[in-house]
Amino acid sequence: MRGRGADADLDALGQRVSAARHAAQARGETFYQGPSGVHLAAFPPKERWDDWVELSSRAWPARQERHYMLVPTTCFNCESACGLLAYVDTGTGQVRKFEGNPEHPGSRGRNCAKGPATINQVTDPDRILYPLRRSGPRGSGGWERISWDEALDALAARIRAAIIEGRRNEIMIHIGRPGEDGFTERVLASWGVDGHNSHTNVCSSGGRSGFQFWMGIDRPSPDHANAKVIYLISAHLESGHYFNPHAQRITQARQNGAKVIVLDTRLSNTATHADYWLSPQPGSEAAINLAVANHLIRTGRYDRTFVRRWWNWAEYLTECQPHLPVTFEAFEEVLATLYAEFTFEYAAAESGIEACVLAEVAEVVAGAGTRFACHSWRSAAAGNLGGWQVSRTLFLISALLGAVATEGGTFPNAWNKFVPRPIHVPPHPGVWQELSWPLEYPLAQNEMSFLLPHFLAEGRGKLDTYFTRVYNPVWTNPDGLSWMEVLTDESKIGCAVALTPTWNESAYFADYVLPMGVGSERHDTHSYEQYDGQWIGFRQPVLRAARERTGEMITDTRQVNPGEVWEENEFWIELSWRIDPDGSLGIRRYHESRAHPGEKLMVDEYYGWMFENSVPGLPERAAAEGMTPLAWMRRYGAFEISRGQGAVHEQEVPAGELAEAAITPTGRVYSGTRKPFSANIVPMGAPEPDDLGRRPAGVMVDGVARRGFPTPSGRLEFWSATLAAWGWPEHALPGYIKSHVHPGNLAPGQMVLLSTFRLPTQIHTRSANAKWLDELAHTNPVWIHPTDAARLGVRRTGDLVRVETEIGYFVAKAWITEGIRPGVVACSHHMGRWRLEGGPRGAGAMMATVALRRGTEGWAMERRAPAGPSASSDPDSQRIWWSDTGVHQNLTFPVHPDPISGMHCWHQAVRVLPAQPGDHHGDIAVDTGKAREVYREWLKLTRPAGGGSPGGLRRPTWLMRPLKPAHELFRVPRQERAVR
Ligand code: SF4
Repeated sequence: MRGRGADADLDALGQRVSAARHAAQARGETFYQGPSGVHLAAFPPKERWDDWVELSSRAWPARQERHYMLVPTTCFNCESACGLLAYVDTGTGQVRKFEGNPEHPGSRGRNCAKGPATINQVTDPDRILYPLRRSGPRGSGGWERISWDEALDALAARIRAAIIEGRRNEIMIHIGRPGEDGFTERVLASWGVDGHNSHTNVCSSGGRSGFQFWMGIDRPSPDHANAKVIYLISAHLESGHYFNPHAQRITQARQNGAKVIVLDTRLSNTATHADYWLSPQPGSEAAINLAVANHLIRTGRYDRTFVRRWWNWAEYLTECQPHLPVTFEAFEEVLATLYAEFTFEYAAAESGIEACVLAEVAEVVAGAGTRFACHSWRSAAAGNLGGWQVSRTLFLISALLGAVATEGGTFPNAWNKFVPRPIHVPPHPGVWQELSWPLEYPLAQNEMSFLLPHFLAEGRGKLDTYFTRVYNPVWTNPDGLSWMEVLTDESKIGCAVALTPTWNESAYFADYVLPMGVGSERHDTHSYEQYDGQWIGFRQPVLRAARERTGEMITDTRQVNPGEVWEENEFWIELSWRIDPDGSLGIRRYHESRAHPGEKLMVDEYYGWMFENSVPGLPERAAAEGMTPLAWMRRYGAFEISRGQGAVHEQEVPAGELAEAAITPTGRVYSGTRKPFSANIVPMGAPEPDDLGRRPAGVMVDGVARRGFPTPSGRLEFWSATLAAWGWPEHALPGYIKSHVHPGNLAPGQMVLLSTFRLPTQIHTRSANAKWLDELAHTNPVWIHPTDAARLGVRRTGDLVRVETEIGYFVAKAWITEGIRPGVVACSHHMGRWRLEGGPRGAGAMMATVALRRGTEGWAMERRAPAGPSASSDPDSQRIWWSDTGVHQNLTFPVHPDPISGMHCWHQAVRVLPAQPGDHHGDIAVDTGKAREVYREWLKLTRPAGGGSPGGLRRPTWLMRPLKPAHELFRVPRQERAVR
């Protein structure tokens, strides 16, 4: 606790900073002249990054100088990709600490706690430093150190054989956090393999699908800083998508008087900062959105001009109301009736929030006009059956207000993101991976990744070589013990390879564990929608950049990384060469130098070519400082390409593109040349070819050809012809789907468990090896309202409760709090890390040692030893004062695949009981047989593609797919046309 003196000092400091800022602003200056334009007193000006001097705190009171070279990189501890500056001690040649990079236009010098904690990951005593191969049965805990050559040769031989023998679908790379744009997809395309798998369907597919059906682009990019009203259906200020970059802009808007509305059943940190916190019954969020929309429609407070120009209302009338004239006036009459049932009273009954509160919120929204910024991400969209309608109904509000691509409104993300073209672009693979894109889920936003164990168990296929990358499916996914069962079955997965910096629950069951670098030890490029502009960031191995700055030549990132830690880009290039050593398979050429044909492509050339040829403005900017574009990016770490994208949809199609254009009766403009899929990377936001392979160029609006949106109609799709044609006409309009945890679907005594929320200072698997973060947050009690606690006989916080799911139960500590709605319990998913007895140490500060056994009633996990002090190369390991590291609740969840978006619907209908005799904290019981039954029940909800699908396709071609196979592969093969 600070004393009064300290408070006074801080107040005085604050006043001095504030006065200096005002004086600088009056002079038209910003404190920091770089892209951030933001003053934090400690930003080192970039001119001094070669020799930045600080006094050693340890030497105090002596004034001992420490000299640093400051090298930028990008944080890898969430998807925001904030800029970091590594302080490389020029005396030791090692990184001393990480702070924010003020040259980064997205994060503007700021970071959350996880950014500076990168140093913990670098110095983590438990990290994996050398390639390992298992030395006993899978999961037995035996490992032997091998060389990279041994690992590469063994894997290359397997993959080469699979390719030659026509088993390309037995190769898969399963990615948790990509952290880059397109490198892995490019590698797989070069192998001719449709083997990209992702984590997206356990994360954000629900949120994405709702936006995709409206805009043809799957993410919103809210211009928070300029908004008048910000409407969030997630804990956005503490852990939302693009958390720190968005949170600082939301804070900026609040300082300017913006109102913040937060829908979150739990009192999140975000909710505490809201002007209106709505704690709805889980699953009722879409009903609230529709009540707000109905208010806008009923009171005429929508933007008629925008709706007339940009909604596909004419298509809707033509297809769904054929008895009406196709006029906007007729549409408005219909619109007035469509949502009439969504009164405030109806939404109140569904959500449990008073109608008068909803009415007040709706009035605030109505006053926002085109300065209405919104976001919906994991949260409700990831929790509920039909959760994708949460984001679809949210964007309905934006679309009614005309707050689309406006200052303070919400943009399609692709307009605020930039993906450069790489040096080589391989063609689309000539195979279709049914294990990821099965016929049952033709509209799935991403790969049906979490169903993989069930598909393998059913014999739908097998995997020869399965890579995981920044991914821990046993721990992250629902139904982790079904994952463990297939990972330990060599007839289903022939060889499992974990590319990871740290041990995790899935790596224990791998055949090879290959050490990869953390955020300051690897190369990637990335660009994310964080404001109305476009930037590109460069993650780089900072010691490589530092040593190159002194004139040293580094040719392999292993030369600077600890132990034999590598980076994936160099690994994939090397592996590809070994798969195709003589180039006869046609793979090697995509990994060869252009400057020196026949030689291996190096990362310097890969990124040098990209920055030179694919990033507008960068070569000129670098030249102005006498640098190559690559040298400039190594020096500053991020480049702002543009600011103020504005309303791209309103741009006129250039006359040259219209010369031979075809215009359909509905006004869709196709460019004159027929362009089927010719490359697997197209500019972000460019319309995908339609089912005939035509590339849309625009749409006619009031007689003018404009760019429009990358949807089939070119307009915002209020009515989705795709949903209607693919078997879901009843959900073609924004609407309300009652969740699987709707009160009407709960059995007597059941409660809803919210299991999706993040903690601000942890991130899934990889932050467990950051000791500072572990000290801040290490457990996940079950939030329970006092009335529920009293009813259930849970007397005090810390009492054990048993939470029963459909397939088992877990035992956790209760946290009695009014921060959760009665009838609902909540538990964060970050905790409950474990290691098996006799296995590698893992993360000593966050992993409990467990015993896992299988009996007649299924699996049982018991704690053998909690986390605690231990010996390691880091003395802090002896200072671990906590032992409670939470419970791995996800093991007890069955899969709940949404039949449309493919999203795993995380919310659980549970029974909460006081602990039963013999229960211990952390106990888990799971019946994977029951898990299989639940999987089959949800599979029955699907409406599969087959012979009757539009165009005989497996999936609409215009929907996104991270790696697209060749166009002809979209057709359902003759033998599969019978609907399953
Ligand atoms: S929000 Fe935090 S964890 Fe995420 S990239 Fe930024 S600093 Fe890293």
